[in-house]
Amino acid sequence: MRKNIVAGNWKMNTTVPEGVKLAKEVNDAVAAAKDLKCEVVIGVPFTHLTAVKAVIDINKVGLAAENCAAKDKGAYTGEVSAAMVASTGANYVILGHSERREYFNETPEMLKEKVDLALANGLKVIFCCGESLELRENGTYKEYIKSEIEGSLFHLSADQFANIVIAYEPIWAIGTGKTATSDQAEEVHAVIRGLVADKYGKQVADDTTILYGGSCKPANAPELFSKPDIDGGLIGGASLKADSFMGIVTAF
Ligand code: PGA
Repeated sequence: MRKNIVAGNWKMNTTVPEGVKLAKEVNDAVAAAKDLKCEVVIGVPFTHLTAVKAVIDINKVGLAAENCAAKDKGAYTGEVSAAMVASTGANYVILGHSERREYFNETPEMLKEKVDLALANGLKVIFCCGESLELRENGTYKEYIKSEIEGSLFHLSADQFANIVIAYEPIWAIGTGKTATSDQAEEVHAVIRGLVADKYGKQVADDTTILYGGSCKPANAPELFSKPDIDGGLIGGASLKADSFMGIVTAF
């Protein structure tokens, strides 16, 4: 059964007290909301995980880290392992965000390691993919997205793949105010679902949640979420205020 999900990605924003306050506001709003048609997740900095976990009902609001290490433990100063993330009570990790690929040189091979470690530690993965403006304009974006997904996910078994959520985030739409049109997003979502169907079969593809990310806000979410292959969103800027985030959560 396919689930709708709206996940916040706070990125490198909020101090711990600010994050705890925001998490409480989201948790209370979710608890008060009736008939939500999606699962709600918040993605927070590593430093916030334990404190945020203490103020949310994890059965109502999922908790994600924004990254984890490609190694399981040891002498990797400054890194945070998937086991450490899981030990905070978080149940998700966002992997492969374009900012991490671009600024921290994350490669498909490295992400494959991260995906394996996350799943081995019981975390569900929100796996990001998406093309640059250059690839969008030269028309090779579908091949690029295919290579991102194949390179980091298609070694998984179908059982493992059930713990993967895919987020399509065109880089040219992230934080730019420039949203992909719902038709542009739907085209790619359908391609991604097709790739999953070719690899794992129609049932697995039908059950896979595929999120859109990139300047998603309360005003454009209903149109995006009305598309058959768009099952929710990964939300950056608009997840930093409880009311705008809830405006997206309630957009189904
Ligand atoms: P945005 O970010 O909503 O601020 O565009 C989305 C993301 O990067 O996940």
